[in-house]
Amino acid sequence: MTQYSSTANLTELRKAPLPQHSRTPTPQHPNTPALQMSHRNLIYPIFLPMQGCPHRCIYCDQRKISATISLDVEAELPKVARFIANHPDDDKQIAFYGGSFTALSPEFRLHIFTSFGNLLDANSSFRISTHPLYIDADILAECRANRVSCLELGIQDFDSEVLKESKRGYDCQAAVKACHLVKEHGFTLGVQLMPGLPGSSTSSITTNMQLLRELKPDYLRLYPLIVISGTPLAETFKAGEYTPLKLDEAVSICADYALLANEVGITIIKQGIPSNLPPHEVLGGPFHPAFGEFVMAELLVRRIILASTQKREIILDKKQQALLLAHRGKYKAILEQRLADCL
Ligand code: SF4
Repeated sequence: MTQYSSTANLTELRKAPLPQHSRTPTPQHPNTPALQMSHRNLIYPIFLPMQGCPHRCIYCDQRKISATISLDVEAELPKVARFIANHPDDDKQIAFYGGSFTALSPEFRLHIFTSFGNLLDANSSFRISTHPLYIDADILAECRANRVSCLELGIQDFDSEVLKESKRGYDCQAAVKACHLVKEHGFTLGVQLMPGLPGSSTSSITTNMQLLRELKPDYLRLYPLIVISGTPLAETFKAGEYTPLKLDEAVSICADYALLANEVGITIIKQGIPSNLPPHEVLGGPFHPAFGEFVMAELLVRRIILASTQKREIILDKKQQALLLAHRGKYKAILEQRLADCL
């Protein structure tokens, strides 16, 4: 055990658990049919890179992020069948990510639902990720009839000005309406947010936090914006018209969201962009394979500082020590600096 007792005099033993999302293993390469484990379900991820998307968002290149060109249904079917057969007693979801599922053509949706639906057992369902503009009562009825249990909405930001600058095609009201519809129809709701979008600010983060409090989605994914080569955002970045978040800023913002999520009972299922993205494709922004780990370390540092100011002692378990010492003691140094600043 490591004890941090500075002149700030930590006097009370406290072994707070790691944040809730730390118990969710980081998903593996998204193009690998490997299991992701949420707190309740095994998830088999399938990528539909930008298929169905009404347009290409300024920052997006799902083909690079997921290393998938397009969905090959026939190739996926036997893998999904194996996955289901291997886990007969577990709750399972076949998840479609990386596109706008409900904006796919009705024929393709039916093909997917029918082909994969035939494989589902009693403990399986679908999870889909989609664009908030493509949610209405009819599409939700179709989802219900086809065993979709969870919808993740790519909200990215609830602030209308940020949405406008990012050319997302909807405003705050439409985003909120889509969230309400998903919940009212009895689905599990996931919200995806993207800190660092053009036009985002302390004020837009406050808006996001207020709405998360009100909407209380079941899940939250945080994808801090990075600049990927070949995207329209890359050109804006090269022209000096967009400044991405620094790594530590993005970590701090995500830590703030994590505290809120913990407080209101939202499960965070991912922080940071999948690490399989080739580094040479990233031109800027807070991209790091250990991003989620940094957020946990930041939360731990904050907890230690709080205990310090309250003159309580902290004893760190092995996991917590490792968080501080990893990456050449990055967060140990941050902790020591902040403790020194407190003096
Ligand atoms: S809707 Fe989502 S997947 Fe489609 S282009 Fe925009 S960010 Fe990418």
